[in-house]
Amino acid sequence: MGAQEPAFLMRSTVNLEQTGSPRHEHLSTGLYTLMDVVCSGCHSPMGWQYLQASHEVSNQAGRQ
Ligand SMILES: [Zn+2]
Repeated sequence: MGAQEPAFLMRSTVNLEQTGSPRHEHLSTGLYTLMDVVCSGCHSPMGWQYLQASHEVSNQAGRQ
């Protein structure tokens, strides 16, 4: 407890935090919901993640 934990700090690829609000992108393959993600350690922008990929707009409510 309180000691340095380098093993934890190195796991940067999984320390992502979603930020902002979801946005929708209509691509040729369907409708995608994207969210911006930041590093949960230093809050640097890390890009974005797909929240879901759906061909049906009507799918977006419920059934989570
Ligand atoms: Zn960071």
